[in-house]
Amino acid sequence: MPAAYTYLDHNATSPIRPAVFDAMVEALQAGGNPSSVHRAGRSARARVDAARRQVAALVGALPAEVAFTSGGTEANNSALVGAGRKRLLVSAVEHDSVLKAARGMEIVPVDGNGLVDLGVLEKSLAASAEPALVSVMFANNETGVLQPIADVVRVAHAAGALVHCDAVQGAGKVPIDLHGLGVDYLSLSAHKFGGPTGVGALAMRSGAPFASDRLGGGQEANRRAGTENVAGIAGFGAAAVAAGDGLATAEWRDGLEAALIEVAPAARVYGAGASRLPNTTCISMPGVRAETQVMALDLAGICVSAGAACSSGKVTRSAVLLAMGVGSAEAETALRISFGWSTVLEDIERLIAAWRDLYIRVTHSDIPRARAA
Ligand code: PLP
Repeated sequence: MPAAYTYLDHNATSPIRPAVFDAMVEALQAGGNPSSVHRAGRSARARVDAARRQVAALVGALPAEVAFTSGGTEANNSALVGAGRKRLLVSAVEHDSVLKAARGMEIVPVDGNGLVDLGVLEKSLAASAEPALVSVMFANNETGVLQPIADVVRVAHAAGALVHCDAVQGAGKVPIDLHGLGVDYLSLSAHKFGGPTGVGALAMRSGAPFASDRLGGGQEANRRAGTENVAGIAGFGAAAVAAGDGLATAEWRDGLEAALIEVAPAARVYGAGASRLPNTTCISMPGVRAETQVMALDLAGICVSAGAACSSGKVTRSAVLLAMGVGSAEAETALRISFGWSTVLEDIERLIAAWRDLYIRVTHSDIPRARAA
């Protein structure tokens, strides 16, 4: 990432780590199809298998439990379909790649902090004998709120349901353990923590039912047909190895939030009452639309995001915040700031100063600019 601007949008995509870049270049130069039996093929296969071990180790899975995909979206789609359960229950704050993946799903509400309502989940599961799949994310992409996955698993398994967890935003940022959590399916994406875009994985507990609807070769132990993205997978493995290095701490997040609230005391941090990812802040600038904030901060050389924002480059109102009971006018003022491995304290200081300048400009507030320093 060029140092010409300040990048605080790691939940959208984190810059590629240098070790990832090196691993990808090496794989591209080596070439080979992992399904070929000759030496070039065997070398590509060895690269994919090494990455499988590295990714599995990141999430406490066995290598054989990891199937590579084209990213988090495909992992989510294929888990929901591949588990073979007609009845699906999903939380109201899931990513669109879960919410749009199956028709007729039942939505489980969340509370004001964005936490899934376990009581409703339990009652809904009890209401029908039809075998179900429950899908609840590990960490929310907008607010960073961490769901009580072990409790979700306890409730779901007691009712005979399988559990899928979209861990795209948690993996590489906080420890995750497939078997410790007890989930049956876990979705991952490389580009959220220093790997390349376009590669991810679905980790499946050994013995969990899975039938792929992709037709083609028998790659990934018949779980994902199609020649593997060897360079992307090698980069994913390198990102998994480097995952913990240089990550921003919760102290930086808390310091940022305190500084922004000092500027605008009516600003609200969403999900503040729940455990959250240490890298994510979702905060409103009262009275200022997120779109305006994103553009003004961009002009000041700072990249952040507005709410769910940007699947098509358009800023839309955040369905996550609405599900948390935030009014729609307020939801339009929510900004997402997310750190990552390349973030330094000066980035956060620059953001605080620019946010303060913008707030003063639009509200004609008389906060002394000197305090921004
Ligand atoms: N799940 C969550 C929670 C996400 O934040 C994202 C990406 O924004 C995805 C899934 C989709 O991942 P990918 O971009 O790898 O398809």
